Amino acid sequence: MTDTIFALATAAGRAAVAVVRISGPATLHVVSALAGKVPPARLAALRRLKHRGIELDEALVLRFQGPASYTGEDAAEFHVHGGRAVVDALMLALADLGLRLAEPGEFTRRAFENGKLDLAQAEGVADLIDAETEAQRRQALGQVGGALTRRYDRWRDLLVESLAMLEAAVDFPDEDLPEAVAQRARPGLVALASEIDAALADVSRGHRVRDGYRIALVGAPNAGKSTVLNGLVEREAAIVTAIAGTTRDIIEVPLELGGYRVLLADTAGLRDTDDVVEAEGVRRARTWSSEADLRLWIVDGFHVEQLDLDEGPVLSAGDWVVINKMDIADPAAASLVAKGLRNRGLMVTTVSARAPGELDRLKAALVDHVTEALSGSEFPAATRLRHAERLREARAFLARALSSEGLEVELAAEDVRLTARALGRITGTIDAEDVLDRVFSSFCIGK
Ligand code: GDP
Repeated sequence: MTDTIFALATAAGRAAVAVVRISGPATLHVVSALAGKVPPARLAALRRLKHRGIELDEALVLRFQGPASYTGEDAAEFHVHGGRAVVDALMLALADLGLRLAEPGEFTRRAFENGKLDLAQAEGVADLIDAETEAQRRQALGQVGGALTRRYDRWRDLLVESLAMLEAAVDFPDEDLPEAVAQRARPGLVALASEIDAALADVSRGHRVRDGYRIALVGAPNAGKSTVLNGLVEREAAIVTAIAGTTRDIIEVPLELGGYRVLLADTAGLRDTDDVVEAEGVRRARTWSSEADLRLWIVDGFHVEQLDLDEGPVLSAGDWVVINKMDIADPAAASLVAKGLRNRGLMVTTVSARAPGELDRLKAALVDHVTEALSGSEFPAATRLRHAERLREARAFLARALSSEGLEVELAAEDVRLTARALGRITGTIDAEDVLDRVFSSFCIGK
């Protein structure tokens, strides 16, 4: 028999209202034990909660009748006053009534197991709870609403149709027919292959929206990276000093730009050094910046000649150069350098990072850049690594199905089956316990 579980659904700590929810077969019994008369399903009722003759609180009680509930089971919520002692007293009473404290993600896992949500939607719930920016919210909400699920279901329908055609061909092995029948499956499979290719090409966008677009501030020590970072985030996140080599580790600062989550990192000044700690900082900086989505090279405008050096910073296409300290720089020299860089296809902005308000222009340009990189007409197909891996696997099986000469019917059918299986693992129609454990353990208790 399934346990009945409980957990605090709202954040821990003092608040006006706290919501404790329960789910499982003992729900009705527990509601009546604590609240007396059981309210009708889906209608909030004000009740005095009592346990063993002691009054706990006056609360709103909301009951759901399975399967019409989040978990699909009988469930209830107690909206109590949000003081710690109130919540503790209620939770102790629930435990005393034989309920068990829920594990992380257990409510959502039950919803999944009872067919209320598929795995991609459940992940959407976790993402929605974690969402901090407008784009994260939209992406997660789309996922909860089944935007991914519908796409994968459509793909799987197409595979099942193709499979039916291939199997029909297997059933007539002695005739000339098989080839012709099997060939009918091809156009659908080819179209699906290109849809999966498009989805794979879009994988990084989904990740960036969810996890953040990574911008590395790189450049020589003392060029003003920390000043730029502090100016962009509008607070003192990095230490600014006139001593070169101040930043020894990567300071990763989350920031919202145009509704997107951005991670900005001030990386250790890139220079050769004998200092072991600084050398490690430089190594980490190189790794972070090589994996970043955008590199902002901060250049000391007072020393623009730094940029002439061919042995200096290795600028690559797509990098963005910020010529800083324009208040003390020679404008003619800076503009000459800027022109040269623009001719090489690089973006260039000149600023004086230390002057108030000067970074607004840079910030506005970054908003445009990030918006262009991350917005798209269609919902990204994969928001997690797990999805991308399965998509790649599906694509490989599909390629094999399509490569069999004239579609060797039986082999192709098997590959189509494997393609469908790989896609089914994204939504969790087919999956092993360990994957489920991993997905749900990332939730917090009460979700
Ligand atoms: P980092 O080593 O690249 O992080 O450089 P910092 O941000 O620590 O800056 C190094 C020095 O340059 C500090 O003394 C800053 O105050 C100074 N600095 C930064 N931006 C400007 C600027 O726009 N104009 C001037 N004159 N000095 C600046």
